[in-house]
Amino acid sequence: MRFKILRDFNLAMLAKQAWRFHTSPNSLISRCFKEKYYPHTDILQASTGPNPSYARRSIYNAIWIIQKGTCWRIGSGQNVKIWEDHWIPYHNNFKVITIDRGDSNMRLVKDLMNPDGQGWNSEVLEGNFLHIDSSAITQIPIIESTNMDALMWMFEPNGCYTVKSGYKAIQIWKARSQTTARTSNENNSVWKKLWNLNTIPRHKTIIWRILTNSLPLRSELGKRGILCIPLCPRCESKVETLNHTFSSSPFISRTWFGSNVNLKILDIPMFDFQEWLTHSLLNVKEEIIIQIASIIYNIWQARDQSIYENQNLPEEEIFQRTSRCINDFLLANSTDSETETHYSEHPSIPHIPTSPPVSAGS
Ligand SMILES: [Zn+2]
Repeated sequence: MRFKILRDFNLAMLAKQAWRFHTSPNSLISRCFKEKYYPHTDILQASTGPNPSYARRSIYNAIWIIQKGTCWRIGSGQNVKIWEDHWIPYHNNFKVITIDRGDSNMRLVKDLMNPDGQGWNSEVLEGNFLHIDSSAITQIPIIESTNMDALMWMFEPNGCYTVKSGYKAIQIWKARSQTTARTSNENNSVWKKLWNLNTIPRHKTIIWRILTNSLPLRSELGKRGILCIPLCPRCESKVETLNHTFSSSPFISRTWFGSNVNLKILDIPMFDFQEWLTHSLLNVKEEIIIQIASIIYNIWQARDQSIYENQNLPEEEIFQRTSRCINDFLLANSTDSETETHYSEHPSIPHIPTSPPVSAGS
């Protein structure tokens, strides 16, 4: 145990050296190292080469930490590769999810910007990327198109690597890989259930984003080094977390209670929204999950409307939108006999289980 702690700490220190070489390329030691070992590239792209010295090999063994924990902050977009690099702070591994078909000329992030470098080219984004990528990319601020792109360490708010946060990151990744192994069976069933739901794809995507922590909540952006006020855009008094956004604010709790699922969400003991959602996906009837997904989607839309249109929708509007979009979808996708299914605004849908699974995933 003690050995493992020392080894991780040592790795975190070596990664600091790699970080220094990357961020201070003009220091004497950086220049010496570069001239000798990687004259034509950056330390983060360099390979060990044959028979590396002990010092060189040690630093190279720690470079993966910087590679894994950093994300580009976009300036000109000239140095960042669309398909290979880490540059989407809202996705778990910071990379695009869309697969490169290899048939376009788009290679660098600047190719996705408007010709004047001011803002994203929405036509290019929508025509070439999955919605989950294009909507994430449009939310990435372009610092100044005349500025250089800069690599940010995502475990410090100021984007600079420290040994302490490097060590912490290693522990987080280790714990995550253990959890992933343990829960992968459960996850497979969750994804299968989710993608097979007969409902609007956007509604499934938002659930996927919640369960993979890839929703751009303000509390998450801060953790990922993006400067913003972490408060809920609606009440501006609580931090915008998953629980606050989808369950614990008074407005949201009224929304759930007045909706078709008629849920007293605040009465659920030890509530964790992700856990509850996973449990519901696995255990609740499809027609109710479809309602839940629609409520969640419309809550998120209302949240965006608070931010971008400065407009706070009342609960009633969310109920109506929830029913309306499911009905429109059913109507567009059903045969004549099926059009009988209709979601009214006050149906008698049975109660969904209120208790989340016993410490699942924790
Ligand atoms: Zn709030």
